[in-house]
Amino acid sequence: MNILEKLTILTDAAKFDVSCSSSGSNRKNKSGGLGNGHLSGICHSWSEDGRCISLLKILFTNACIYDCKYCINRSSNDVKRVAFTPREVADLTMNFYKRNYIEGLFLSSGIIKNPDYTMEMLIETARILRLEYNFNGYIHMKAIPGASYDLVRNMGHLVDRMSINVELPTDESLKLLAPQKKTSEIENSMAVAKNSIIQRKNEIKVYKHTPKFLPAGQTTQMIIGANKESDLEIMSRSQNLYQNFDLKRVFYSAFVPVVKSDLTKDIDRVPLLREHRLYQADWLMRFYDFNAEDLVNSSKQNLDLDLDPKTSWAVDHIDKFPIEINKASYKDLMKIPGIGRVSARKIINARKYRMLDYDNLKALNISTKRAKNFILVKGKYWGSKFSNKKELRMRMSLSDNKSHEQLSFL
Ligand code: SF4
Repeated sequence: MNILEKLTILTDAAKFDVSCSSSGSNRKNKSGGLGNGHLSGICHSWSEDGRCISLLKILFTNACIYDCKYCINRSSNDVKRVAFTPREVADLTMNFYKRNYIEGLFLSSGIIKNPDYTMEMLIETARILRLEYNFNGYIHMKAIPGASYDLVRNMGHLVDRMSINVELPTDESLKLLAPQKKTSEIENSMAVAKNSIIQRKNEIKVYKHTPKFLPAGQTTQMIIGANKESDLEIMSRSQNLYQNFDLKRVFYSAFVPVVKSDLTKDIDRVPLLREHRLYQADWLMRFYDFNAEDLVNSSKQNLDLDLDPKTSWAVDHIDKFPIEINKASYKDLMKIPGIGRVSARKIINARKYRMLDYDNLKALNISTKRAKNFILVKGKYWGSKFSNKKELRMRMSLSDNKSHEQLSFL
């Protein structure tokens, strides 16, 4: 099989992996036009310094000895199997890079023979790129749980970012849908990556030439809705992962029934709006000082689909509002719907010079539309009247849906 045929199969097989974001769309080229958004293969990610970069996104092989019930590449699925060699992937990367198509590589793989062998193939690819071809572009690779810790460390010295996928939010779901994978192996590999990052940070203080180790950190991916897990279970797992393994990101992938399986046959495609709400809640945990339990709990196990998680939290805690904009701390300002980190900083800075009035907020480009029901400005309330949480929730939901009615997540 020629390299182009392999590339077609192995870029398509990689498209369900979301841990490096977008991967093609439905737009095809027209006669006389330029470009084709349809083919998978190039995706976008963010480098260590925050730049958006294009990556060649492929699988090393779609031949996998595991049989995860949700995966198109599972061993029992009848699809054509192909594999690259490490040098083929390295050559493709260099050729695409020299033509300016990409700025890096995202490489994942099915499990060939066993986790160690697969990791050796991936590491060899990175070795050729870094040491033979002197490639200094961005490399993001999947580490294979269950591989030896030395191999995890070797990979970490060659690539910028490593993902070790937890796959599913709970241990029970993993046992049911990906029985060959073990939570302990996944988390042990994550711990090795985390500890090596810490060790490198300490060593660099003493030895200036300490080699880099995962400069863009580690991430993971979780499929949501494949076993009807609640958002409470999902958010609690993410919180645990952020706290214990210093992950840069948890990526959520709404379950898509791409293969027939007895265990998933009654589960529909998960609405993308749910995935979107989880990303919003995840953002609040990482940057807005929210805990998973603030957003979901035993009496409210799923995020509200009609309202974004911060507005939903504010409505549920309306007794903490309205907050006087001229006195609130940075932390409290960030809890107000419609006020983000940038707006909160603008308010704090502007307050150094004068007491703010309502028009000042508009002049600072702060969206008062959502915030007005939760704030006082110089003691005055500018929001609508409501008699209970239910009424406020309905009002906020109507205005939210009106302003976003062009979006279709379902
Ligand atoms: S290990 Fe599981 S999820 Fe990964 S490629 Fe193989 S079958 Fe798919």
